[in-house]
Amino acid sequence: MSAELLQGSCHCGAVKFEVRTEIAPAGRCNCSLCRRKGALMTPRFPARQLKILSGEDALTLYQFNTQVAKHYFCKHCGIYPFHQTRTDPQQWRVNIGCLEGVDPYALEAGVADGASLSVLEDA
Ligand SMILES: [Zn+2]
Repeated sequence: MSAELLQGSCHCGAVKFEVRTEIAPAGRCNCSLCRRKGALMTPRFPARQLKILSGEDALTLYQFNTQVAKHYFCKHCGIYPFHQTRTDPQQWRVNIGCLEGVDPYALEAGVADGASLSVLEDA
């Protein structure tokens, strides 16, 4: 599958973005944050392939544990559209549920062992 240009948004529409990424293999992660939000994520892609079209000021940054990964949320609707990864800060992943025309429940998904990447307990 080749990387497609996809449109995405948070739930309230404040944050709109476009991204060029593959959808497969989609992944879940078992770290303490991901298991709470339960999002299905795209594979990693380089930062330059994500373009925020509007609502950059509506995004709130959340960081924990090693403080390397950057998790962004819409401060109005609470939806988490994308994050910058911990293993390579130049690489990002998008929440597949935020993408137009993609059914996250139709995708096969494995679970990444993000929990074991944490250097602090209970991360
Ligand atoms: Zn929103």
